Amino acid sequence: MMKNMWIFGRSNKVVIVVFTGVLATELLWQLYKRTRSKISSKSINEVLFFSEESSNCRMHAVSRTPCDRSNCSVTQLRKLCAYLESAQQNLDVCMYLFSCEDLAAAIAKVFCRGVVVRIIVDGGMAENSACERRIRDFRERGIRVRMKKSEYLMHHKFAIIDRKLILTGSTNWTMQAMHGNWDNVIVSNQLALVKPFIAEFDRMWILLTTGED
Ligand SMILES: [Zn+2]
Repeated sequence: MMKNMWIFGRSNKVVIVVFTGVLATELLWQLYKRTRSKISSKSINEVLFFSEESSNCRMHAVSRTPCDRSNCSVTQLRKLCAYLESAQQNLDVCMYLFSCEDLAAAIAKVFCRGVVVRIIVDGGMAENSACERRIRDFRERGIRVRMKKSEYLMHHKFAIIDRKLILTGSTNWTMQAMHGNWDNVIVSNQLALVKPFIAEFDRMWILLTTGED
């Protein structure tokens, strides 16, 4: 009898512990979802500028020495990487010139996490050794790259993250553009801006079906 009571009491405790665990997990999950939806619904509108002053920052791009310049190009580059790394499902990139190692590493990182990555480049990239190396590296990793080869340039510079956030502007994704050129990047999750970029990317991707080799 005593033994039965002991077993009964013990199994009750197990049920209570399991129930509390399930409840706590559910509460944490709901809290996480609420926080995440608040972040994704937050309005993002930001402009980054690069100039010849940015060339002074190139020296600390690798050393990670702190920099007190208000428009530090290394900080801005890291911000762009962080935006790319925030991708959870999709990352579409359309870039005239692309050689920047940090941005390429950010793309490779999200691709390894299972994010669907599509890249469109101009045929001129194949003639630039640094850019050509970058495309080859993407393709070797299994990342899909389509190229526009014609007399008219694929001159866009934009990226769409999770079909919700757009990075666009005059800036090519090269170290020179971010450390010397007068260039800009606009970051926005305004639907009125993001939607046309999604439609245009999808249109170009289909048109360039034969540009993947
Ligand atoms: Zn700096």
